[in-house]
Amino acid sequence: MNSFSSFSLREELLQALSDLGFETPTPIQQKVIPHLLQGDKDIIGLAQTGTGKTAAFGLPLLNHVDVSVRSVQGLILSPTRELCMQIQTEMQKYGDHMRGLRIAAVYGGVPIMGQIRDVKANPQIIVATPGRLIDLLERKAISLEQLKYVVLDEADEMLNMGFREDIELILKNTPAEKRTWLFSATMSNDVRGIAKRFMKEWQEYSVAAANATNENIDHQYFVANHHNRFETLRRLLDFAPNIYGIIFTRTKQDCQDVAEKLMKMGYHVSPLHGDMDQKMRSKVLERFKSRQLQVIVATDVAARGIDVNDITHVINYELPDDPEVYTHRSGRTARAGKSGICMSIVSPKQISNIRQIEKLVKQKFHKTDIPDGAEVVRKRLFFYMEQIATAEPKDDFAKMYYDFMHEQFDGVDKDELIRKLIWLQLKDTIDAYQESEDLNAGFERKGGAAGGGARYKRLFINLGEKDGLNPQRLLQFITESTDIEPNLIDRITVRDLSSFFNVPADAADYIREHLSSKKFKNRKVRLEDAEQSSGGGERGGYRGPSGGGERGYSRNQSGPRFSGDTRSSRGGGEHRGGGGGYKGGGRGRERH
Ligand code: AMP
Repeated sequence: MNSFSSFSLREELLQALSDLGFETPTPIQQKVIPHLLQGDKDIIGLAQTGTGKTAAFGLPLLNHVDVSVRSVQGLILSPTRELCMQIQTEMQKYGDHMRGLRIAAVYGGVPIMGQIRDVKANPQIIVATPGRLIDLLERKAISLEQLKYVVLDEADEMLNMGFREDIELILKNTPAEKRTWLFSATMSNDVRGIAKRFMKEWQEYSVAAANATNENIDHQYFVANHHNRFETLRRLLDFAPNIYGIIFTRTKQDCQDVAEKLMKMGYHVSPLHGDMDQKMRSKVLERFKSRQLQVIVATDVAARGIDVNDITHVINYELPDDPEVYTHRSGRTARAGKSGICMSIVSPKQISNIRQIEKLVKQKFHKTDIPDGAEVVRKRLFFYMEQIATAEPKDDFAKMYYDFMHEQFDGVDKDELIRKLIWLQLKDTIDAYQESEDLNAGFERKGGAAGGGARYKRLFINLGEKDGLNPQRLLQFITESTDIEPNLIDRITVRDLSSFFNVPADAADYIREHLSSKKFKNRKVRLEDAEQSSGGGERGGYRGPSGGGERGYSRNQSGPRFSGDTRSSRGGGEHRGGGGGYKGGGRGRERH
């Protein structure tokens, strides 16, 4: 089956597909459309976003609709407002030539009155989030008595989001003889449970995750110690001046924190997560679609609302727990035959997770070095030169300033002028990366002598033997609370009421920040630099490798070594202020 015309679709639908330029049905469409057109069976379609599943259920549903009858014949339940709107838009395009067709979308987060008007106008199809639909049913604004087809879209996600009871309530209130079409990215027990309770003998169809084996995706991973994760992200962003991408975090909090930090540094990014209200989320999506934002930092659920086909990079700030979720994330890039890059920042102990995902994706992942400062500067220099070379100034540009310009630069040598222009554009990046360190994990062990000695910081913590700690237990508390690698903590000394330990200088802020928000046996944890600690300093002070006192222990005789200089420069990157394809904003506003 190679074309839509071989399905027995109405002429109006075939016309719309031809207008849209859809030539070949996608695999899920090939599998389910013929069965759904017959319309006499329930089905389960296992397919994720990007596989063309909206058309897979949308075309048959439209085909079954009788436009001369003004009652709700088809109901599509979907987890989020963004998805509802996308489905409605998509369906409207397919039904463009069906005169008299009305499709209403109803979802929470916006005033209900406008939606009541929409549903009272007797649409044949309603796309709804479960909560809002129940609200409308309770207000008797909608009648589902004539319903013939229910589509549960992204069923797994609806269940994950806690809509089970709502879905059950809705399904109980639909006519028994209606057909149910369930679509889900995964077949969890919860999904099967819903199917068993509410569906009649069903047929299952599945297609490989959209891009699970998409060879157009280059899967790369970067191994960094946990405390360097954010710096690594920044470097990857700076190394990709042309990026149009999504950064995935595991939690809403991480999403907010990472986005805020990047924004403070002047990057044109925005968070996108479920704690933001609908209005804000829509605004973010609009700005991303119109390319005012080059990058969105998103959680997995919120990212389902992003319907963009030309994402160049997906960055996993943290790997997801479930390898399958990785394929959902990576599937955001390399859509519609394009190529894309999926980058993952992993700590040394997470390399085994990469191996697991490799098996699922059936592709080899490339371990890639985190670029050093010089590489970033070089990359941005070439990018900027390319921009200059390919710029096409308007014909009459600068006509009125021509004389002034020539007067000003008359005696200036061309090479000098180029140098100045490029310096102006790149100086923030050059400053930021002048003394940048190597972020690749493992480097500090290989580095050795080059840096001329260890660079560590000694920290004080207000917990000691009285809290039931010994060096091992303290090490465990620190590593579990911060995810910091144990080999980076050294020279632990535990006293009665307080303790001391060494960490690499560049990890000290990270550890202080993360541990200070923690409690240990209900005691608020406090950390300070050892030399400033109000705990009176360490008895006998720090006595070098073997001087830790009888309760201290040193697992690493030479201590952690960092040969590179600790990065002194913060912020930076000329692109944040308007160059490098970023739009708007003054140059380097947020520097330092
Ligand atoms: P979906 O999986 O429904 O989110 O669809 C992903 C994208 O693919 C949407 O932008 C659709 O418009 C597009 N699409 C769906 N089916 C086809 C097709 N047969 N040919 C080309 N594009 C399609």
